[in-house]
Formats: sequence, C-alpha cells, structure tokens
Amino acid sequence: MSNTPKPEVTGPAASEMEMSGSCPACQGDVSVRFTGRRATSVCRKCGYVVHSIVHQQGGQIVFEQLVRAAA
Ligand SMILES: [Zn+2]
Repeated sequence: MSNTPKPEVTGPAASEMEMSGSCPACQGDVSVRFTGRRATSVCRKCGYVVHSIVHQQGGQIVFEQLVRAAA
C-alpha cells in the first residue's frame, strides 16, 4: 500500500486538547496537554491534575493513567 493517510497525532511534540466533562472529581471540563507520550490533564474547574501515558490503538487514543508509586 502506498499513500496511506497518516494520523494527525504525529507532528509537534506538544499539543493540547479539551475533554469536556471528564474530570473524575467534579465532571468539569478538562484541558489536556500532550508532551510526547505523556498527557497532563488539568481540570478547568477544580484544578484536578491527572498524569497519563498516551497509547494509540487502531487509530484511537487511549489514556493510561499513571498511578503514583510510593516513594
Ligand atoms: Zn474538576
């Protein structure tokens, strides 16, 4: 196959998107900032922060939430 369309995700190392109503704490709008394979989600309402690793599976973006290891 030639000229396979490329997903839009590739490009600049950092980008942002919004996910409305996805705050686990208050269901508020969350601003997600991508840095390489990592995503930092910050709630615009309550400031709840979630760090995730971003995977791509079949063209879909999957967030894997980082669990803080005790240290
Ligand atoms: Zn919130």
